Amino acid sequence: MTFQDYNLSKEITRALDGLGYSSPTEVQEKVIPAALTKNDLVVKSQTGSGKTAAFGIPICEMVDWDENKPQALILTPTRELADQVKEDITNIGRFKRIKAAAVYGKSPYAYQKEELKQKCHVVVGTPGRVFDHIERGSLVLDRIEYLVLDEADEMLNMGFIDQVESIINKLPKNRTTMLFSATLPEKIGKLSSKYMKNPKNIEI
Ligand code: AMP
Repeated sequence: MTFQDYNLSKEITRALDGLGYSSPTEVQEKVIPAALTKNDLVVKSQTGSGKTAAFGIPICEMVDWDENKPQALILTPTRELADQVKEDITNIGRFKRIKAAAVYGKSPYAYQKEELKQKCHVVVGTPGRVFDHIERGSLVLDRIEYLVLDEADEMLNMGFIDQVESIINKLPKNRTTMLFSATLPEKIGKLSSKYMKNPKNIEI
């Protein structure tokens, strides 16, 4: 299996070559085709499996550069992970000039608001601050097509469940939702049955 098999655009293929990714990891092999055909997914996988590119590649492929409003929202439990995901998306989307913004707490609003005001295809952030930006009107969600809940078990352990649900309730219903988690406790099952459409389960 190589990345050529997915018929990705030349901009994305070129970026993957530049990153030295020649063949997909196991999680990528399972997630990329399912995400490109807009299946909701519950993915049990660990950090280090290549999970960021597993959702980053299809999102970068599907994003419409001409649309000015955000098309993908990625929620993460920590600021560090938000920055890491933003960097990975920027690298994968480099030759398509995809813009990603990271928004999280304990960091000034002004710069984040400015980043969101400019053209921004993908927003990555922690639930509390993402919700604040929605409430303040600085983050517009009506064009969101992809939602990713990254390290979902960690987000729940950190007490973000109410904010995650409030955010999901403000998103367009017609979207693709992908949940990634190292463990699948009962609460994750409840979250997926409440907010996802016939999710495909993938275990690595
Ligand atoms: P992650 O699980 O997303 O934290 O990724 C773990 C590491 O694997 C990161 O350093 C990625 O840059 C790298 N990686 C992701 N996909 C591939 C791939 N297909 N080939 C080689 N390295 C990869």
